Amino acid sequence: MSSEKTKSSKVTGAGDLHVVFLPFFASSHTIPLVHAARLFAAQGVRSTIITTVHNALIFKSSVDRDISAGFPIAVQTLNFPASEVGLPVGIENINDATNIEMASAVFRGMMMLRTSMEQLIRSLVADCIFSDMFFPWTADLNIPRLLFYPSCFLYHSIFHSLKVHKPHEKVESESESFVVPNLPDKLTMKRSQVSDFFKFKTPMGEIMETIKQSEKRSYGLVHNTFYEIEPDYADHFKKIKGMKIWHIGPLFQYFIRKDLRGGGTSEKHTSLKWLDSQKPKSVIYVCFGSMVKFPEAQITEIALALEESKQPFIWVVRKKVGDEEIGGLPDGFQERIEKENKGLIMTEWAPQVEILQHAAVGGFLSHCGWNSVLEAIVSGVPLMTWPLYAEHFYNEKLVELLGIGVGVGADVWNSGSDITSPIIGKRNIVDAIEILTGGSAMAQSIRRNSKEIAMKAKHVVEEGGSSHNDVMALIEELKAIKSQNLEP
Ligand code: UDP
Repeated sequence: MSSEKTKSSKVTGAGDLHVVFLPFFASSHTIPLVHAARLFAAQGVRSTIITTVHNALIFKSSVDRDISAGFPIAVQTLNFPASEVGLPVGIENINDATNIEMASAVFRGMMMLRTSMEQLIRSLVADCIFSDMFFPWTADLNIPRLLFYPSCFLYHSIFHSLKVHKPHEKVESESESFVVPNLPDKLTMKRSQVSDFFKFKTPMGEIMETIKQSEKRSYGLVHNTFYEIEPDYADHFKKIKGMKIWHIGPLFQYFIRKDLRGGGTSEKHTSLKWLDSQKPKSVIYVCFGSMVKFPEAQITEIALALEESKQPFIWVVRKKVGDEEIGGLPDGFQERIEKENKGLIMTEWAPQVEILQHAAVGGFLSHCGWNSVLEAIVSGVPLMTWPLYAEHFYNEKLVELLGIGVGVGADVWNSGSDITSPIIGKRNIVDAIEILTGGSAMAQSIRRNSKEIAMKAKHVVEEGGSSHNDVMALIEELKAIKSQNLEP
């Protein structure tokens, strides 16, 4: 969004309104929520982001640019209690945790900050708290609270149905399919794809319950999705919830080309230079989000599949901390790939949004994290779906409904980013790549659907688009509440 355009469509009189934003300490939550703060500030709303010192570094350069451009945005930092939770200084984000114990410690540290955060919010005299779902206590501060879900309506609709109707309890085995009741479409799932907290008590289940309970004490819900990809589920979810709900996504799209984590450097990334040398729509982009850690046997299968497939590729793969090399790669794999210029293996943070927007990219092998799905949709890149944990299996259902992808056959939910589900063999991966890049009627339909949906996505954040309208309506409503509260 250019600053000119932003200024022309700015909400009038928003300057009095002060909204405090609380992002969760994981990139896939931080990025969209910071985008929301920047979007509000671009509309003249005083926006303050509260986070810890090291988490603030993730988006510092973007916010600094906004401040230089004159937008009313600020960041307030707190010190993360690293020593209290036994973490090294600087590890304050789930993405930087190298194992489940460290991730839990990050979570504990975040919970310990509650009192300091509460004091800070009160001292800032906020009119509204725009809170990530993982801060349920922000519903109890007597300040209008927006609960931010960085996820789609279809997921929350399935969540509601599983919770209320428990269809997964009526099947005999993990591999048996059932229909998810009371949804606009006949969606089937296997019990093995369902999050374990629906089946038995888990700490995550308790956290999710607290989050869901906090909905009722919130002013409204805000989702990072857009109406056009799931109109039936947007309407259905609003009906079952009976509360105020806004859809303002895809949030990154307002800031396309300014990758938040990368800090918007002008130097072209190596991966983008490499893509320049590839044929249009030929490259398969492989990335499983910011956290996934596969066992070595799975890395081997992915490598073998990419080598066997005819398509060039970019594969973003995380090294285990302390390891010199990526464990599990077949002997000589990297050398052969480099020699034949067959692909690029990246172990650092990839400029994913820009990669997906590149004309050479023709398919995305993805874990179906919601941000990744949205980014693929906006770029018109068809997906090869490999759901792993969190809400990925539900997101995959939306990809299926939209007809913009093909699955690799993953059907076992993992309780976290350390993947333990059965190994997906190279055959499945090669098959998915071949289907997606082939000339079958199915492949053509997937490509056509992806293109059509991307066209729709482009308009939703422009003036008059559904998400843009919702942002404007939300800000107007917050201003109205503020002025009502000020009335004598
Ligand atoms: N991402 C990126 N570069 C990477 C890995 C991830 O830019 O090397 C971004 C990606 O574009 C997306 C986010 O990180 O915005 C990942 O979010 P998603 O919901 O897809 O998955 P999660 O990380 O939560 O598993």
